[in-house]
Amino acid sequence: MQTQDKGITRRKFIAFGAAAIGGLALASQIKGIEDNKNNMMTQPKFYPTPEKWRDQDLSLAWLGHAGFLINFYGTRILIDPVFYERIGITPFSNYTIGVKRYVGSPLTAAQIGKVDLIICSHAHTDHFDFPTLRDLQSTKTSILTAKNTKSLWNGLNYNSVDEIHWGDKKQYGELSVKAIEGKHWGARLPWNQEMKANSILLSKNGVNIFFGADTGYTESIQQQLREVDIELAIMGIGAYSPKSFEPRHATPEQAIQMAEEMGAKKVLPMHWGTFKLSQEPMDEPIKRFNQALAGQLDRIAIQDIGATWIKA
Ligand SMILES: [Zn+2]
Ligand SMILES: [Zn+2]
Repeated sequence: MQTQDKGITRRKFIAFGAAAIGGLALASQIKGIEDNKNNMMTQPKFYPTPEKWRDQDLSLAWLGHAGFLINFYGTRILIDPVFYERIGITPFSNYTIGVKRYVGSPLTAAQIGKVDLIICSHAHTDHFDFPTLRDLQSTKTSILTAKNTKSLWNGLNYNSVDEIHWGDKKQYGELSVKAIEGKHWGARLPWNQEMKANSILLSKNGVNIFFGADTGYTESIQQQLREVDIELAIMGIGAYSPKSFEPRHATPEQAIQMAEEMGAKKVLPMHWGTFKLSQEPMDEPIKRFNQALAGQLDRIAIQDIGATWIKA
């Protein structure tokens, strides 16, 4: 019966809805994970200037959390964009119930400019933000989304929406995008078990960038990237505490280990300092990351929100 089904859905939602916010299982029920209650939101140290980037360069700016704007030798790519102050569920319009960011977005949708391709690694709310994706709508922009998440794009006006799954490759002109299997999950709400999660390999002009998205430590990533020369590994280093989170969100040391195992020349730490989704203190991931890389800090591409890395 339909009413009964709805009731079950709602009950499930009440029981697990908190878990869906931020995309982390039971996050808000665990001590030490609190919203940004003091309403402190600082401004980023840097602001990218994508209008000045040259198409013959590879330029990449960190927009906070897992968001990146890349000009990959003329192909403009946006990954996991989240520009609003809060992430979570959006019951109507751009009203969001969920956690508030600590550092403002260095760019707005209007400042992003033309985008050829938006990649959403998975449908967790800290990577897939409806208000942002509504603002970015353009018939000149293609979408790449995880397996069984295409329906989430219904009603949004983009050039194309394609799903990509582990091992698949998609070509956009000279740019190749390959989905890599990490150790994570992709359910937007707890009952969306069919939705999958990707890590991503971007390749153009013989240069390869690995975007880890969310993943726990796994040897499988280096196995999938065998014989790929990785210029830059963008690795999540936060949301590993409590210990039960660690299998799906690598610690800073595990993130570095994975970057090393894939032979990445440069590494870029992300998924820290923007939203509080876990128990570790906000600045612990980057402190541990820098400690673990002591003596080879020149291998870190950038580590400030809003900063831009340009491949030499
Ligand atoms: Zn996730
Ligand atoms: Zn995440």
